[in-house]
Amino acid sequence: MTKLRLAIVGAGPAGIYAADILLKAERKFDVSIDLFEQLPAPYGLVRYGVAPDHPRIKGIINALRDVLDRGDIRIFGNVRFGVDITLDDLKHHYNAVIFSTGAVEDAPLDIPGIDLDGSYGAAEFVSWFDGHPDVPRTWPLEAESIAVIGNGNVALDVARMLAKHPEDLLPTEIPANVHEGLQQSPVTDVHVFGRRGPAQVKFTPLELRELGELNDVDMILADEDFDYDEASKAAVASNKQVMVIDRVLQQWRKRETGQASRRLHLHFYAKPLDVVDDGSGKVAAFRYERTRPDGQGGVEGTGEIREVPIQALYRAVGYFGSPLPGVPFDSRHGVIPNHEGKVLHPESNERVPGVYATGWIKRGPVGLIGHTKSDAMETIGHVINDQADWWAPAEPEEEAVVALLESRGVAYTDLEGWHLLDQHEIALGEPQGRARIKVVPREEMVSISRAQSSGTGTPSA
Ligand SMILES: Cc1cc2nc3c(=O)[nH]c(=O)nc-3n(C[C@H](O)[C@H](O)[C@H](O)COP(=O)(O)OP(=O)(O)OC[C@H]3O[C@@H](n4cnc5c(N)ncnc54)[C@H](O)[C@@H]3O)c2cc1C
Repeated sequence: MTKLRLAIVGAGPAGIYAADILLKAERKFDVSIDLFEQLPAPYGLVRYGVAPDHPRIKGIINALRDVLDRGDIRIFGNVRFGVDITLDDLKHHYNAVIFSTGAVEDAPLDIPGIDLDGSYGAAEFVSWFDGHPDVPRTWPLEAESIAVIGNGNVALDVARMLAKHPEDLLPTEIPANVHEGLQQSPVTDVHVFGRRGPAQVKFTPLELRELGELNDVDMILADEDFDYDEASKAAVASNKQVMVIDRVLQQWRKRETGQASRRLHLHFYAKPLDVVDDGSGKVAAFRYERTRPDGQGGVEGTGEIREVPIQALYRAVGYFGSPLPGVPFDSRHGVIPNHEGKVLHPESNERVPGVYATGWIKRGPVGLIGHTKSDAMETIGHVINDQADWWAPAEPEEEAVVALLESRGVAYTDLEGWHLLDQHEIALGEPQGRARIKVVPREEMVSISRAQSSGTGTPSA
């Protein structure tokens, strides 16, 4: 029987679902899958994006863990595609590759002052509070008044993590350095700005509602934002999600405020203009133009300029994929150009045989974890049907790629190593009654994983 040796690069939900779907699919060939992941821990943005105080979503990890724990997928952690292993290497050892490398960069917000000291991308901050090993351990939390630009769920995560009292995060898996950092924060006011009105936000109701449940934080809304035009009224009447969002906001408008030590302000109809310099290169204020509904569900400028004094600004205007060496890339959209997961040359649109994409790097950084499953089904369907186009590897044996990594001194981690790290984190949390405490430094993650696991390459991290 023919055997498909498949490499998957990226062990986030998209990569793990793709492997699972292929293994369970009806097919006329055997399959052997190797999953390469640049971090010593799997699960991508479920571990390093989803906020620590969202244990229900983090729980998706249990389903992903069940897939890996079956033991029919080999995982090579701490192996970065483009550095430790290249496309030529993959062609030498596999019949095909699926890239599921996600998106970790911040999309740009092109306004004057966005590069000032004190202006940050949401993705960087998210990586910090979720204990990503590749970001600094400390985060400058010196601002009393902070702007968050964006009206999607990531903006809500950032605003909530900034406004929430750190002791209320203790039952979660936040790393110790993050708890310590947040304890130093003198924040009193977090301002969230969106260009459009309450009926056009991209928040989901559950995530929005959570803001109103924060201990000792007042929700502040302005009456002027609720003078709905006909298009907004129609949206509230016809769309269940918008209706619930409106209901939540209307309840907050009726609440007594003034007692809490922190405030979370939601500003609608605010188009970013620039970030004001304090004279020494630091953020001093955020300026925006007030917009109004244009009657068709969009907005137009009013010419009225407003300014809010702040000392830090976070832009949460979307994520963006990163190029991978030797792999086609669409730099306008931050994705690997593809048709239903089959990778294409960006100029000629011709098919690149043997190369596939799935997840956020395939269709852009939108959608929930569940969407990566349907996405993976589409891509896997093509992998199965394209058998005639698979590569013919010179060394397809499973040991050959292990020998390659070891010859390069790559300190890879494996499934057993991940179990060791996982158990170590759970044990760290136990005395404090916490689900886990994440290990943050990469070298510590690697050395715990490799302590008794079967990976034998020379530790270099
Ligand atoms: C802040 C934030 C909060 C979110 N909250 C939720 C939520 O509450 N609920 C929900 O359903 N969805 C949420 N999402 C969306 C969800 O995280 C994504 O839908 C999902 O993670 C996308 O999966 P993916 O596998 O395509 O990418 P990722 O999860 O990003 O996984 C990609 C993997 O590839 C690896 N990789 C990248 N480059 C390389 C390389 N060169 N070599 C080897 N490995 C590499 C990365 O390390 C990573 O592990 C959130 C997203 C963000 C950003």
